Amino acid sequence: MKSYYADLHIHIGRTEEGKAVKITGSRSLTFQHIAKEASERKGLDIVGVIDCHSPGVQQEIEYYLDNGQMEELPGGGIRYHQSTVILGSEIEVKDPGMGPAHVLAYFPTLDVIKEFSIWMSRHMKNIQLSSQRIYVTARQLQQEVIDRGGFLVPAHIFTPHRSVYGSCTDSMANLLDVSLVHAVELGLSSDSAMAGLISELRSMTFLTNSDAHSLSKIGREYNKLSMEEPTYDELVKVIKRIDGRCVSANYGLNPRLGKYHRTYCRGCGSIIDEQEAVSVERCSYCGSMKIVRGVMDRIQDIADLDVPAMPDYRPPYHYQVPLEYIPGIGPKKLRELLAHFDTEMNILHRVDQVDLAVIAGSEAAELIVKAREGTLQLESGGGGTYGKIIR
Ligand SMILES: [Zn+2]
Ligand SMILES: [Zn+2]
Repeated sequence: MKSYYADLHIHIGRTEEGKAVKITGSRSLTFQHIAKEASERKGLDIVGVIDCHSPGVQQEIEYYLDNGQMEELPGGGIRYHQSTVILGSEIEVKDPGMGPAHVLAYFPTLDVIKEFSIWMSRHMKNIQLSSQRIYVTARQLQQEVIDRGGFLVPAHIFTPHRSVYGSCTDSMANLLDVSLVHAVELGLSSDSAMAGLISELRSMTFLTNSDAHSLSKIGREYNKLSMEEPTYDELVKVIKRIDGRCVSANYGLNPRLGKYHRTYCRGCGSIIDEQEAVSVERCSYCGSMKIVRGVMDRIQDIADLDVPAMPDYRPPYHYQVPLEYIPGIGPKKLRELLAHFDTEMNILHRVDQVDLAVIAGSEAAELIVKAREGTLQLESGGGGTYGKIIR
């Protein structure tokens, strides 16, 4: 079995014609730019682009397939140089009596996702745009995806806005047929141990993806997959953990670096004290009731286990510190590092400290290696602000 690095949640900002797909996404985030960034700069073997339901994007994919710059693989997925692109869609569901939640759907081929889009456009106001609300039940959507040979993954499941546990319900079984959910995406402010406190997640594969809204954020979280070749069919085996395929490691931001780790007050912006955050309804600083539950505190609310379940198929979760978070590594230094060591995966995982120090300086090189070993000191994020590295 071989190892491949994969980030399965990347948005498209605009089509090449400049039509908006994800309005808050960067203009340079086009289908072709993502494939190129993954292949040349990040060194990611597999990337999931989750705005491929948009007809404008589908036209571009068709163009690259027709002129031979990209190729559809027999096992599913689109090949561009060193990387495979998996076609997907992020969709907002909202069942009666529950809040909104995002789910990701992935499909084997362009033809299949095109046909899915035609179906979905009848239940959605604007099929061009990213992460739109669908007006069917979550279970209906789940069945439509599965019937087309696709699979569905609840997205960033604990974030306070638009996620299954963060804003929708206390139990995924209220929303979906959990026997058909093989994987969930943990999101930027949680890790395997935190998610292990919820028993209904026990059988599921955990994914760590970037939810990138710009090219530089691609790969800030990713997975190491054990599989035979980087194709859609093999990815399905990975998430179902069959024939020895599996996620062999998760690389995620330390939850303390995530911007929704801690509970905060929308009234005054204060982060609520760790001890009182579990029960607080009202801000202890300004008295406002506008409390946004941090991921850590939300998990404590809904946890039904005292000790995290760590089944033997649960891979190690490595705290990943993206290069742009390392003090002393600005855009110029990063360009120099890439010129010497080719890809970010090389810099993060493979290059020796001594060699890094020649280009990055000894202090930054030491921080990169500390990040690799998980020994960096961090300050918590909250209230929509990312955490920081303490030098
Ligand atoms: Zn989302
Ligand atoms: Zn997203």
